[in-house]
Amino acid sequence: MPLTRYHAQYAWLGGETAERDVLIEVADGRITRVEPGTPPDGGAPPEAGRQPETVPLPGLTLPGLANAHSHAFHRALRGRTQSGRGTFWTWREQMYAVASALTPESYYDLARAVYGEMLLAGITAVGEFHYLHHAPGGARYADPNAMGHALLAATRDAGLRITLLDTLYLTSTVDGAPPTGAQRRFGDGSLDAWVGRVDALKPEAHALIGTAAHSVRAVPAEVLGAMAIGAGPFHLHLSEQRAENEACRARYGGSPTEVLHEAGLLGGQTTVVHATHLSDMDRALLGDTGTGVCFCPTTERELADGIGPAADLVTAGSPLCLGSDSQAVIDLFEEARAVELNERLRTEHRGHFTAAELLGAATVAGHRALGWTDAGRIAPGFRADLVTVTLDSVRTVGAQPLPAAVFAATATDVTHVVVDGVATVTDGQHRSLDVVRELREAGA
Ligand SMILES: [Zn+2]
Repeated sequence: MPLTRYHAQYAWLGGETAERDVLIEVADGRITRVEPGTPPDGGAPPEAGRQPETVPLPGLTLPGLANAHSHAFHRALRGRTQSGRGTFWTWREQMYAVASALTPESYYDLARAVYGEMLLAGITAVGEFHYLHHAPGGARYADPNAMGHALLAATRDAGLRITLLDTLYLTSTVDGAPPTGAQRRFGDGSLDAWVGRVDALKPEAHALIGTAAHSVRAVPAEVLGAMAIGAGPFHLHLSEQRAENEACRARYGGSPTEVLHEAGLLGGQTTVVHATHLSDMDRALLGDTGTGVCFCPTTERELADGIGPAADLVTAGSPLCLGSDSQAVIDLFEEARAVELNERLRTEHRGHFTAAELLGAATVAGHRALGWTDAGRIAPGFRADLVTVTLDSVRTVGAQPLPAAVFAATATDVTHVVVDGVATVTDGQHRSLDVVRELREAGA
């Protein structure tokens, strides 16, 4: 079993500060040994010709980052929809136009490039909230999972893990209107048809299969109640817009969270995405059941959604994770600090989350929300996912290591990424993909 030894100048092992001079040994894709306070040439008695070379990791090394909420194809909207007036609902029409044009082949090319961009940002696992299932007009492809299989192949070929959250989408409004336009590509027509299609998706070494219901707009309450979600991850967009809450109250007499609770879908395997506009009762229901919350602050601010109650939710008992969602930005450091900075704007007080808590949201909590319970920590037995952030860039030089990552670094400060023991990014470059060229050629 070949051994790889890394020497991290600093590494975050889960505490409130970074450890210095950390030896990390990796074998067969797993971390086997972690020794802080080991000098660069230390760790084992020298035996000429037998010791593996030690890979130096100058800067701060973190566990792999988990992007818990992604729609890969939204990357094609970046810089095209962000200026100008409008709302979430006008943006959605532009997003539907992109969705209308993709084929399994072109989606593979676009997604591989987008996942390459994620790797360059230190993301080692992605939760792809996947609803673009069928051909234009809703016709089935010869392989009914052609689009999902394109995403599984794209992540494999880019070099990161995926949890494919195959998404049920039945209606275009809370009142049950049928899908129209681009939405016809999203719908399976019935719960049974969706179950049959999802059953044909199989996990792979780099891929887990999870499930999602798009939202209470797209799945009626009685269908939510009939969903047997099993033990795997289950995700749902929740209360991103006040209009969704109002329509839900008018139809069901309760909030989307209450509808989800009635359906028996709250709990530790569930992650609700956005959770922006919540009542006190909603927060209590989510917290009491240990339901996870995924915040996507760069998307939420870009779409004028509002600021969700992150600190209150965590206090109530909900684990917090992060997602790039619409890909307006792919930078989990920016997502992490935005959670804290939004709270400051909302409350006019500082210090709601520590840097370690925000990094926990970006790493171990995100992996857990995606079903990768053995990832997101630098500890023996965990998957060997390592992300190194330089402390020598114009942004980070002079900053203390841990706050540097959360409050100063950007995705471009990531220099080295290891996924399951494989070095995928070195010197800030993807080792097998020309990500910029691929993004350009894929129409991103
Ligand atoms: Zn989303």
